[in-house]
Amino acid sequence: MRWSHTKVVGPAGRFGARYGMGLRKKVVQVEAKQRGRHRCPRCKSLVRFRRIAFGIWACPKCDYVFAGGAFVPIYGR
Ligand SMILES: [Zn+2]
Repeated sequence: MRWSHTKVVGPAGRFGARYGMGLRKKVVQVEAKQRGRHRCPRCKSLVRFRRIAFGIWACPKCDYVFAGGAFVPIYGR
């Protein structure tokens, strides 16, 4: 029998039963967005930010480091 206890949440299934379904679905969304590109506030190039630590991001081109959202870079607001 195939293990299917992670249900429909896909990659967020790693969180197990914690956090509840609502947040886990949200995690799936923000992680899909995280794989996309974001514009660096300093060199203005469209890059995939490296996540150095929880909520800390770095531009791979100019090494600009900034604190943003825990899951998705947030800046310029
Ligand atoms: Zn940059």
